[in-house]
Amino acid sequence: VVGEARAEKVDSQLRARDLDGLLVTHPVNVRYLTGFTGSNGVCLINREGRLFFTDFRYVEQAAEQVLGFEKITAGRDLLGDVAKRLSGRIGFDDAHLSVRAHARLTDAAGEMTLIPAGGLVEEIREIKDAHELAAIAEAARLADTVYEGLCEGGLTGRTELEVARDLERRLLEEGADEPAFPVIVASGPHGARPHAEPRDAEITLNTLVVVDMGARLDGYCSDCTRTFATGRLNDRAAEVYELVRSAQNAGLEAVRAGAACQEADAAAREPIEAAGQGDNFGHGLGHGVGLEVHEAPRLTPTAQGQLEAGNVLTVEPAVYLPGAFGVRIEDLVVVTPDGRDVLTGVSKTLTVVG
Ligand code: ZN
Ligand code: ZN
Repeated sequence: VVGEARAEKVDSQLRARDLDGLLVTHPVNVRYLTGFTGSNGVCLINREGRLFFTDFRYVEQAAEQVLGFEKITAGRDLLGDVAKRLSGRIGFDDAHLSVRAHARLTDAAGEMTLIPAGGLVEEIREIKDAHELAAIAEAARLADTVYEGLCEGGLTGRTELEVARDLERRLLEEGADEPAFPVIVASGPHGARPHAEPRDAEITLNTLVVVDMGARLDGYCSDCTRTFATGRLNDRAAEVYELVRSAQNAGLEAVRAGAACQEADAAAREPIEAAGQGDNFGHGLGHGVGLEVHEAPRLTPTAQGQLEAGNVLTVEPAVYLPGAFGVRIEDLVVVTPDGRDVLTGVSKTLTVVG
């Protein structure tokens, strides 16, 4: 049972942190540990056992999805019933539990101390198991197929919004649960914004277009960016494209088990800085991807920690030239004991899409 291995990892964290139990309220973490995909579920893992709480609306769904937990039907707000079961030192997710919910638990529970334990489940989620890796790889393949269709469908003369909505529709047609995030299509000067939203503006000839999209499959995300040309580029744009492409390659080469997260970031950042474009690469090199499209670990200049086999993360250097254009190239990779496997297969040679 998948959930069994995960709950055992929680058990060993409880011992390491001297906790009597862990209260899990964040829906993504509840899903990860129990398999429950509904919107109202809480789990409590303690030394006596594993409890899953939901309200009457989800009893049938929980019976199907949740294995290895004692299932308790609670009142709709769950916490009153959860509080009755809490005793000792209970870790809770301080990044996601509201102050009000915290007060309710403290008031309703008996001999119990709530200890901040935010990040405990997220840390376990950093190492993907075979089932997760298969879902992420399939989500990446699915988005690759949609990228191939984009190259045939063309860009020039369509609006960014039209292209983005079309790509979202194709992700669904290919079998995605949903797009992992709203598709980004940003042409010309708009491409210089890292989080550009597609506009109702026509894509012109001879410019650069940043496209960022991913699929969600079985709950797991993929994430891939390519920058296309819509014709002939001036020398500056072509140079920046090649700079980002070689930096992206250097970033990929630096990803391996045991590498410091900072070092991977530096490997891609150094060539960009050497070309005088350091100020135009204003974000980290990459982020973890799993049930959430942005999760741990992070590749940034100040990130602590090392990469481990089973991490799944993006490598996405960029150069954003305000008022002119942007180039970002993003691959999704899984860290292996001696390197990395690249899950995204779309060509990174500058591609002209008419
Ligand atoms: Zn992306
Ligand atoms: Zn990304």
